[in-house]
Amino acid sequence: MKRSADLRFYLLIALIVLVFSSNALLFFYYQQNKDNIKQNHIYELRKEFIITMSVYSDMADSIYHLHIDTPGIKRIFAQGVQTTDPAEKNIYRKRLLYTLNGLYRKLIGYNFRQLHFHEKNNRSFLRFHRPNKFGDDLTGIRYSVEFVNREKKYISGFEEGRIFNGYRFVYPLALKNEHIGSVEISVSMKTLIKQLSQLFDKEAQFIIQKEQVAEKVFKSEISNYIVWDIDDNYVLDRAVVQKCILEKRISDNDAFLIRKTLEKKSSKGNPFCLEISVDGASKVVTFLPIENFLGKKMAYVFSISDNTKLREHARSLYMISAALMLLLVLFIVFTVYYRVSQKKIEGMITYDFLTRALSRRAFFERLDAEFERYRRYRKPFSLIMLDIDHFKKINDKYGHTTGDLILSAIAEIITKSVRKTDHLGRYGGEEFIILLPETAAKDAVTVAENLRKVISEHNFHRAGTVTVSCGVVEIHPQFMSIDEFVNEADKKLYRAKDEGRNRVIA
Ligand code: GH3
Ligand code: MG
Ligand code: MG
Repeated sequence: MKRSADLRFYLLIALIVLVFSSNALLFFYYQQNKDNIKQNHIYELRKEFIITMSVYSDMADSIYHLHIDTPGIKRIFAQGVQTTDPAEKNIYRKRLLYTLNGLYRKLIGYNFRQLHFHEKNNRSFLRFHRPNKFGDDLTGIRYSVEFVNREKKYISGFEEGRIFNGYRFVYPLALKNEHIGSVEISVSMKTLIKQLSQLFDKEAQFIIQKEQVAEKVFKSEISNYIVWDIDDNYVLDRAVVQKCILEKRISDNDAFLIRKTLEKKSSKGNPFCLEISVDGASKVVTFLPIENFLGKKMAYVFSISDNTKLREHARSLYMISAALMLLLVLFIVFTVYYRVSQKKIEGMITYDFLTRALSRRAFFERLDAEFERYRRYRKPFSLIMLDIDHFKKINDKYGHTTGDLILSAIAEIITKSVRKTDHLGRYGGEEFIILLPETAAKDAVTVAENLRKVISEHNFHRAGTVTVSCGVVEIHPQFMSIDEFVNEADKKLYRAKDEGRNRVIA
């Protein structure tokens, strides 16, 4: 019995450890998979941005090769660059403007934003989008222009300018192997964002650090930007903002989360993903940093996507975890139920239902153990066999129910009279057997005498007085078995009956 209880205990511990460790494992797996899903969102947005951008990159290349890198255009530009006379410069500027104005209009139609010529000393020569603003030195402001004029190599990437930010494609211009300057074809972030949204059917937006804008943009052009509602360290390109995609659609807490994450991530310029509730629906907002030519991450493109994958992932893990917990609870319920019924059965086997004395079987188990102790250590013990006198007559006269009451009353009297260390068993119908450990015959007789006396003096309601006879025997090496020993007690009891009942014979 004890061994199976131990087994159940260890099983329960094992199951608890199993459930908790698999829950921990599930949580770990969940976190890892969550990170993977988020990485996927970032990867997807990056891919989408590159695809969108490459469309414009190819177009810019064609425009440059077909329409700008031509002898006619380069000759006008070279003359404008070479002369130092401002009036003469203006003539070539106007001529270039006039010659390429048609192309510029078409470029605008294709959503390009700028066509800008720069002299080899980095001075602005002609801005098609602001023809009256020229001659300013872009050194230290437009790294891309500096790079192309210095290296005489093409470059492309994001850059904040004097008027607009944009994704810029800057090409060197040379006439008869002599570098004369550079030309930039650029597309606004508005265009890229719009294209990205349309191509991939998702809301997207562009934000840029306020200080970057303040540093580069002409004071007169600063109104091209508006402060971002969510985080005032960032501004929105007014031209990009056709529709605010997060403002007033998210909670203050989520806005705070965005601000905090931007603050944490923007120092390194890492991309990141946040689970945010937009218009009450769970979404993933992915932030992709945009770096300038110097590798400085100063702006972000962000998009809103559905959160189905993350939600489904979480749901399936909750379900597995709940199932494991249920298993544990079921096992505990089963164990408790099993334990309770086991105890009940043990009780039924150990104790006699009517008298609550030990059952014959349970009594003989204890007698066995005592007999063994005697054989090994010679510890004395005695036995009292007790039988109710003329019980048949009592039954006949008062009925079985009264007989039963008398039986249990006598068992109660005996239990109260003997020591806690003594064992009372129901040997037969109206026969009790009492095991008295560490007790010699002389003392056992005293106990038996006392029992006999107390019972005979007890008033058993309807039946009045009842007497008992007892046989007492002490263990002795002559007894080879328990049966012999018990038979001896039986014999003494018979003698007590023969000699007139209501007596103790030892
Ligand atoms: P004696 O003095 O020689 O022991 O006479 P007795 O009548 O007590 O002995 P006998 O062995 O002839 O009868 C025992 C009776 O005990 C028979 C039976 O009716 C009664 N008895 C046995 N078990 C129970 C029980 O559980 N309940 C009741 N009410 N009576 C029982
Ligand atoms: Mg009897
Ligand atoms: Mg009897």
